[in-house]
Amino acid sequence: MVHTRNNNNSIRQIVIVGGGTAGWITACSLSKVLSAGDYAITLVESDAIGIIGVGEATIPTIRDFHKMLGIDEAEFVRKTQASFKLGIEFHNWRNKGECYFHPFGQHGREFDSVSFHQYWMRANQAVDCGDLSEFSLCTLAAAAGKFVPSNNDPQSVLSNMGYAYHFDASLYANFLREIAEKAGVKRVEGKVVDVRQNPENRHIDSIFLESNQQIDGDLFIDCSGFAGLLIGKTLNAEFDDWSHLLPANRAVAVPTKNVGATKPYTMSIAHPAGWQWRIPLQHRTGNGLVYSSTFMSDDEATATLMSNLEGEALDEPRLLRFRTGRRKNAWVNNCVAIGLAAGFLEPLESTAIHLVQSAVSRLLQIFPGREFNDADIREYNQQTAREYDLVRDFVVLHYHATERTEPLWEYTRNMAVPDSLTQKIELFKNRGRFFDRQDDLFKKASWLSVMQGQGIHPGAYDPVADAKPLDRLIEVMQQMRHVFRESVDAMPTHDEFIAEHCKAR
Ligand code: FAD
Repeated sequence: MVHTRNNNNSIRQIVIVGGGTAGWITACSLSKVLSAGDYAITLVESDAIGIIGVGEATIPTIRDFHKMLGIDEAEFVRKTQASFKLGIEFHNWRNKGECYFHPFGQHGREFDSVSFHQYWMRANQAVDCGDLSEFSLCTLAAAAGKFVPSNNDPQSVLSNMGYAYHFDASLYANFLREIAEKAGVKRVEGKVVDVRQNPENRHIDSIFLESNQQIDGDLFIDCSGFAGLLIGKTLNAEFDDWSHLLPANRAVAVPTKNVGATKPYTMSIAHPAGWQWRIPLQHRTGNGLVYSSTFMSDDEATATLMSNLEGEALDEPRLLRFRTGRRKNAWVNNCVAIGLAAGFLEPLESTAIHLVQSAVSRLLQIFPGREFNDADIREYNQQTAREYDLVRDFVVLHYHATERTEPLWEYTRNMAVPDSLTQKIELFKNRGRFFDRQDDLFKKASWLSVMQGQGIHPGAYDPVADAKPLDRLIEVMQQMRHVFRESVDAMPTHDEFIAEHCKAR
């Protein structure tokens, strides 16, 4: 194919600094969407520094990203040792010994403009219709260790489900690298040691590697992780610190051998001063303890993690430090920060990789043309900030809605939370209402699971739910429960599904 260079832009050379999940997602997306003849994309990464290597749980939007790239699911699952994820099982978050599930699907089936859970509340007041979780196919399948992919046929009960993946972060970076390199992205190995800016407008002109190699660019994407090499160290973009709302600032991580069947969900286990993740992959389980150094020492955290592992440790525990918050502006001059360089909430709802995908698609919607336009940059920064803020509220809810009394939980239970979160809680407490906003990543089903799971309950159901005859509602609930159970009984186990559908063809 002959590519003619268009004259409508002055961006020719795009330089991505960093080859972690953020760098390679960015490289894949840009090389897929932008016209190959018009742009030269270079990705610089340092083998000596390596990647953070812990982002291994995702949310369903990752499937849209894979679809955009034309990724074959079976090949991806094989090459990254992936497993399927139907949601997150939360232990001990409200009180020690209590457990709930945040599923990636709907509760029940919506039959009109009144939410299913409103009808369920009404019917359940009259007779015992079962727990709300019995109307979530994801929750039932997860509890039974079963898995089938959801579908989009509104007639099928499987349209009630959603799913994501767990994968090995290093294998995933390699997998994406292969795709990006095939699409023409040039990879340069080396450590960036210097950055040169235009003295007039402070745009970045070039980066310099330890080897003295100079790499010039028109647009720089900072995917250098917590180092924030360009956005922070060079451009001094301000960081909005959220540690008063999300006090965790450390994690200790260790992989273990698998024990038993591969669970189709992530586990999040609250401890007296932090919480632990268990992420099941085909070849190992990822484990980590997230904590705040104010409430727990590194030694205590390591001891807590090591004494709560299911399988034999495969490595020494690794300590990671982070700061929760985001850059006030993720795009400054000719540099856009994506991934950990732009900000980090904390891993509780596995949102960081989604925020990378979302940032790249936003950049592609507001891609600079002949010049860097202030309104474009402002729009990008406002949308990015809003997205982070909305996700933050959802993560904060987990910490805030607790009845635990240890110092960490006492602090998070009593801390002042954003007004936007208070409003959501108040609306739900009143009549169980949610108002899904288009830009809110987590919709009604997610908020409902976490609020209910952590002990926030509505005072009454929506009065509009009274419009349906009660006996009909109860009958529908009973039928639905039956159909859901039968559907789960017919599913293969998660391991059977992987073995059957993801084997090499
Ligand atoms: P990194 O992986 O750190 O990559 C940075 C890159 O920059 C590397 O290639 C490095 O070599 C390069 N680099 C840095 N400095 C230089 C230099 N001077 N010269 C050249 N190259 C350089 N996200 C989720 O979605 N789900 C999860 O379950 C999840 N769990 C997490 C748990 C913890 C404890 C933490 C801290 C994060 C977690 N995340 C999770 C976030 C996730 O790990 C990251 O969002 C994701 O891996 C992207 O990271 P990154 O590419 O921005 O940074």
